[in-house]
Amino acid sequence: MTQNISALRIDIQRLRRDIEALGAIGRNPVTGGLDRVSFSDADMEGRRFVGGLMEAAGLDVFMDGAGNLTGRWQVGDGPAVMLGSHLDSVPDGGMFDGALGVVAGLECVRAMKEAGCTPARPVEVMATAEEEGRFGGMFGAQALTGQVTREWLETARDDAGMRLFDAMRTQGLDPYRALEAKRPEGTIAAFLELHVEQGPVLERTGKPAGIVTGIAGVFNWTVRFEGEANHSGTTPMEMRRDALMGMVDFAHGIPDLIAEDGSETSRVTIGKVSVEPNFPHTVPGAAVFSLVTRDMDEEVMRRLAAGARRRLEAAAGKHGLSVAIDETSWLPPSPCHPDVIAAFRHAADRLGLDAPLMPSGAGHDVQVMAGITRAGLIFVPSVGGISHAPQERTEWADIEAGTNLLLQAAIELAGVTG
Ligand SMILES: [Zn+2]
Repeated sequence: MTQNISALRIDIQRLRRDIEALGAIGRNPVTGGLDRVSFSDADMEGRRFVGGLMEAAGLDVFMDGAGNLTGRWQVGDGPAVMLGSHLDSVPDGGMFDGALGVVAGLECVRAMKEAGCTPARPVEVMATAEEEGRFGGMFGAQALTGQVTREWLETARDDAGMRLFDAMRTQGLDPYRALEAKRPEGTIAAFLELHVEQGPVLERTGKPAGIVTGIAGVFNWTVRFEGEANHSGTTPMEMRRDALMGMVDFAHGIPDLIAEDGSETSRVTIGKVSVEPNFPHTVPGAAVFSLVTRDMDEEVMRRLAAGARRRLEAAAGKHGLSVAIDETSWLPPSPCHPDVIAAFRHAADRLGLDAPLMPSGAGHDVQVMAGITRAGLIFVPSVGGISHAPQERTEWADIEAGTNLLLQAAIELAGVTG
């Protein structure tokens, strides 16, 4: 029996040993990166390894039809508090992205069990499947929340043309059972995820962890400026309808767009560009580019969309172009639940940890889980802001601080009294 629950801490040596052992599964011998893409042999081996750790910790281990691996500490009653993240990686990725949140969740449970804690409700460790997007991403979490359809299941393919269906069958999974992975309403009390930041903010501010307020909303457009392709030598500058000039004018105005219509969490990116005919001696007749816009506030997203449209039309008018906007997708922001944010803040206070509130620009399982439960996310710093690369790393001291934050929040939400 623990005398003082708030003094309970995780064992960083044990956590490190398990993260390093897991990180050796699927390691690329040439690049040193991690190749554990979803439903690969390495992905399944990683799941078996973590399943073994869960069993060794005395948890009831179960893999659902979507490949989500759960270790359940059957204690107390009512809905479970769930701690976890994903186990798959991008090709040539890092060993902390996703895996950290899974093993940290397990370590929190081990720390509680060893201390003789008795939570009022069950605690589960979750390792979701196919978060990184081989087949579109967040498949496991979508299966848990009942968002996977039979039609999608039968048609999803990866970039190489491999069907999700076949990838799962090769690993002995029955894809249709993913449709049964939905967790019944009211069986999860909260979902807590610890993840690497994958950006430079925490490291720059020197904080060991951050409490995420929500996942930014995002809208994707494809914009096409159309003018007239013509000879670059014979067409006078004032008589051109140069589509690239329209695009460049618009791009140059992005800081003004954000200043007028955006917020400090706005991110506007032109990441993919093509001009036609793309020949040195021809005035570009068309410019096609992606426009990806993020913000934490959907109202601000709407303002940015209107402002971007206005500016695109102005740039088109200035250069004698037509503009066509293909609005590909609109994903509203996904706020983390106030109860979970509060639990993380209380935990940070108890630990004397300076963990600032911050938004997440990247998507995570937590935003899908928010559809069925109170969901929250914390970040630990990424060294150099790097992830999705072999160099991805987080200092062990920060991992220790972040996992203790996760532990203390889990203790509050699981109703641990001693
Ligand atoms: Zn991740």
